[in-house]
Amino acid sequence: MRVVVLGAGVIGTTAAYYLARDGHEVTIVERHPGAAEGTSRSNAGLVSPGDATAWASPAALATFIKSLYSPDLGIKVHFSLDPQFLIWTCRFLMQCTAARARANTGVKLRLALYSRECINALAQDTGISYDERRRGVLYFYRSQQSLDKGVRHLQFLADRGLEIAIVDRIRLVEIEPGLAAIKDQIAGGVYSPMDQTGDSHIFVQKLAAFSERKLGARFRYGITAEGLEEDGGRIRAVKTSAGAIACDAAVVSLGPESGLFGRKIGIDVPVYPVKGYTATVPIDDESRGPVMGGVDEDRLIAYSRLGNRLRLAATAEFAGFDRHHRPSDFAAVFRVAKELFPDTFDERKAELWAGLRPMMPSSVPVIGQARYSNLFLDTGHGHVGWTLACGSGKLLADLVAGRKPEIDPQGLLYRN
Ligand SMILES: Cc1cc2nc3c(=O)[nH]c(=O)nc-3n(C[C@H](O)[C@H](O)[C@H](O)COP(=O)(O)OP(=O)(O)OC[C@H]3O[C@@H](n4cnc5c(N)ncnc54)[C@H](O)[C@@H]3O)c2cc1C
Repeated sequence: MRVVVLGAGVIGTTAAYYLARDGHEVTIVERHPGAAEGTSRSNAGLVSPGDATAWASPAALATFIKSLYSPDLGIKVHFSLDPQFLIWTCRFLMQCTAARARANTGVKLRLALYSRECINALAQDTGISYDERRRGVLYFYRSQQSLDKGVRHLQFLADRGLEIAIVDRIRLVEIEPGLAAIKDQIAGGVYSPMDQTGDSHIFVQKLAAFSERKLGARFRYGITAEGLEEDGGRIRAVKTSAGAIACDAAVVSLGPESGLFGRKIGIDVPVYPVKGYTATVPIDDESRGPVMGGVDEDRLIAYSRLGNRLRLAATAEFAGFDRHHRPSDFAAVFRVAKELFPDTFDERKAELWAGLRPMMPSSVPVIGQARYSNLFLDTGHGHVGWTLACGSGKLLADLVAGRKPEIDPQGLLYRN
């Protein structure tokens, strides 16, 4: 089959890999001059089923309202009259019940655990390395109250298959000596030993090159997907800025832009952009800094050790499609990072970046056939797209092939 995949982020590129591996003739359409130049360029680097908790929950409702008048929170909402923002917000609020939060988290965790198996198998099959570390991720808390709350959240995941260990501050710095400097300010943590870290930009670029070289996939960079040509309930071509590309099936993986494209082709894909910031700094003395990924849950800062670099990530900001950043946006991140890892990096050497999480109101991505019999979605992966990419791509390839998926797709499929 000729399959056109729209978008060469981590989601589109992994889908393209699995589709090409199945023997399909795959073309990828990407507006940038290379792969992973959108959100997948510089995320926090955590491949972490431990982060599968859905954002929408009864607690998020209170945080969302507080963020409207409290500028210091890691969550920032610039109130907007953009109808898409208002519709998305209403849908998000509808997902904020305890029952919906549990259901959404359960679906995400199922995909995240599967995805972890898939990325490990993919790395072995392709030989791709991406500054990966399989040493776990540490979620830590500054107060007993927040530790108790965090343990309750992670226990929900543990009851559904995530391996975790609750650690006091002494054990915590044994497994993460990088945090020794602030040991006395930490109440304790939850260690998720099977979580991992890695650079999604390197991963995607290498996977794109592998898929081209070994599997015959064709990446067409610098062209924009503009719409679809249909005929009798089927897609027969993708309209692009470089003309129509004939196909037997198409996959939409346009990240934060999936909602805009969906509206063009008459499909409701409620993806809205949620901005975040990352800073990447070289670690000159490699004996310093963290040995694994982590999240300072009270300061809402995530970090990864990527080779001799430290990646710091923060903030969930509702600012439409604005991707700009200023040095002042990183002041709080650097303040906390210096407290966590003193004398480890020089912020003047930082590579600063901002990107947009493709967020569904439920935090659950949508994968599978939509509206047309040969149109598929693989999008809306929100704050954990790097974690979910490989499992999503494999599931999508199974659905395109009409094979029984290896996991239950319930809760992920598009409701036509
Ligand atoms: C600050 C931050 C930290 C994060 N940390 C983590 C983390 O630690 N772990 C984790 O799992 N996830 C994390 N994420 C989320 C993760 O990075 C995303 O979910 C993931 O990168 C989304 O991938 P994507 O392929 O859907 O989108 P993208 O990477 O944006 O790819 C979509 C592609 O489509 C292209 N495109 C768009 N419109 C068109 C068009 N009309 N025609 C042609 N091409 C088009 C874009 O150029 C882009 O390349 C983080 C996100 C942010 C912002």
